[in-house]
Amino acid sequence: MVRKPKTRWFDERLYPHVRQGLSISKILFRERTAHQDLIVFENPTYGRVLALDGIVQVTQKDEYVYHEMMTHVPILAHGRARRVLIVGGGDGGILREVLRHKSVTHVTMVEIDRAVVDMCLKWMPSVAGKSFADRRTNLLIADGAKFVAETRERFDVIIVDSTDPIGPGEVLFTERFYRDCKRCLTAGGILVNQNGVPFLQPGEVPMTRKRRGKSFAAASFYMAAVPSYYGGLMALGWATDDRKATDVSLATLRRRFAAARIKTRYYSPEIHRGCFALPAFVAALAAR
Ligand code: SAM
Repeated sequence: MVRKPKTRWFDERLYPHVRQGLSISKILFRERTAHQDLIVFENPTYGRVLALDGIVQVTQKDEYVYHEMMTHVPILAHGRARRVLIVGGGDGGILREVLRHKSVTHVTMVEIDRAVVDMCLKWMPSVAGKSFADRRTNLLIADGAKFVAETRERFDVIIVDSTDPIGPGEVLFTERFYRDCKRCLTAGGILVNQNGVPFLQPGEVPMTRKRRGKSFAAASFYMAAVPSYYGGLMALGWATDDRKATDVSLATLRRRFAAARIKTRYYSPEIHRGCFALPAFVAALAAR
């Protein structure tokens, strides 16, 4: 009898009592970088998957959801974004979406781990495409917290595409970091950040709301459904002093989206309007 080869599983254990298993068809790369454990493997459902310190970061098949929502919501809400800062985002997905806005003239990307950029370019090239070679891209390999504390550059939108608040990403969830981001934003600038899955990470919403609320007049959240960030809707942090930016009319969003001439697979002006409507339990967490 020919024995079927045993299926190998990637076990994501972000939570104590719930975990996510992805079958591994093939491990393409694995190393302990200077900052974190990095693996790229193939899964029949998600395609190629990048995980850092055992946590899924980006998958080929569903990355468009998160990257479109973290990028087009702030940029189209702002309406005049020219200079964008990305903190983290080593896979290049956010960078790709930002550069699709021809109105954006300059993107600085501060990623702490060069290996993430190199390995994603090598093993998941569909995510970044040619974004790192775009003349508007300025890639810095550094700690994002140190960068915003020291830079003299100013930005209209800051997108914090970080790992979770453990390891190198922890510093990107502090009051000091949000205060420094505020210092780097132009008047009416917008900061957005990866803010976890509230059903399984309920503490992250009140924590970041309090910490961002000290530096921004309008600190809230918007929601997106990212299949590989399991546990329900994901919260994305939103912070600005321009309260109007949180409530841009559908007509204006449709006009700006049409002018940007961008084809998307998740984002739409209607989703943009709807994503700020928080589920009651998330609104309660944000009001804590
Ligand atoms: N979309 C993913 C998510 O929502 O969890 C995040 C993807 S991206 C790969 C996360 C990036 O943040 C990683 O490349 C990691 O190296 C980077 N990172 C973590 N801490 C950082 C820091 N302090 N400064 C700059 N980049 C950092």
